[in-house]
Amino acid sequence: MRALTVQPLRPDTLEVRELPEPQPGDGELLVDAVAVGVCGTDKEILAGDYGAAPPGHERLVLGHESLGRVRRAPAGSGFASGDLVVGVVRRPDPVPCGACAHGEFDMCRNGRFTERGISGLDGYAAQTWCVESDYAVPLPSELEQVGVLLEPTSVVAKAWEQVERVGARAWFEPRRALVTGAGPIGLLAALLGLERGLEVHVLDQVTEGPKPELVHDLGAAYHCEDIDDALSRVEPDIVIEATGAGRLIMESFSGVSNYGIVCLTGVSATGGRLPVDAGALNRDMVLGNDAVVGSVNANLRHYRKAVESLGRADQGWLDRLITRRVPLGRAPEAFEHRAEDVKVVITMDGT
Ligand SMILES: [Zn+2]
Ligand SMILES: [Zn+2]
Repeated sequence: MRALTVQPLRPDTLEVRELPEPQPGDGELLVDAVAVGVCGTDKEILAGDYGAAPPGHERLVLGHESLGRVRRAPAGSGFASGDLVVGVVRRPDPVPCGACAHGEFDMCRNGRFTERGISGLDGYAAQTWCVESDYAVPLPSELEQVGVLLEPTSVVAKAWEQVERVGARAWFEPRRALVTGAGPIGLLAALLGLERGLEVHVLDQVTEGPKPELVHDLGAAYHCEDIDDALSRVEPDIVIEATGAGRLIMESFSGVSNYGIVCLTGVSATGGRLPVDAGALNRDMVLGNDAVVGSVNANLRHYRKAVESLGRADQGWLDRLITRRVPLGRAPEAFEHRAEDVKVVITMDGT
């Protein structure tokens, strides 16, 4: 079988290689891959900035945004041949820390977790893969076209859960949310905001391409303006930050409404510097009872919530988020930057 591999921490080592068929261990499913999504994390790994091969291996099989069909499942696993399935990305650290011991490995405290396709475990960008049935999430067959969006949706489901849990510190009836960035995470965050009955606004820099229309068709408002203008116009109770851009982050802290919540989901590069009036920022946040929460990754609870959200969403709209489908044989094309891309997916079941 063929798999998309890289040599971590060395730039431009992407290669489709022939690898031996994997053999499922005890309690594992054997899965035929349907598709894998490509995101910024994959690009960081490709650039040599991030990632680790499994111990003793030189290369890492890429791919953490999975979708496959079960070929063989152990008896009693709850899965059967033909089931549509997504593999969870993270595994608990070996200690385990308290969070991992409670199944909340997305909140791992010691950082020694492993991640399929990212750090220490081979990923899902292989024509055949195995996954422990406890880390496999079943999807209804109607989600075959868009189920590859489950992993990014799980990340967003967690972010919204964090917002709600922080909000529950007192009376909480939010009305307006501002999402910064109309990439896959931002658009899916907007979808889940609308699902919660909120008035949703999305801010991005582009006026062309599919993003403005995707936002409108979802029933949210699209803004292409300075963050300060967007914040004063929208007066959001919640900001979901999905760009990782320094200025947007800092302005959100002071521009969110009183008793507001800013949820940070974007991973930024380090080294950028901004002049900040720390006193003013502190005053704004203290006097406004504001909260800032970072959110990354997802546990099984979030994957299951994400299945429900994808199932409720307009399938045609979700399908439009996937702006390119590239076959495994031409996988390097999936990593080329194209202005009109939202989510690029590598199809694994063809040539
Ligand atoms: Zn990703
Ligand atoms: Zn842990």
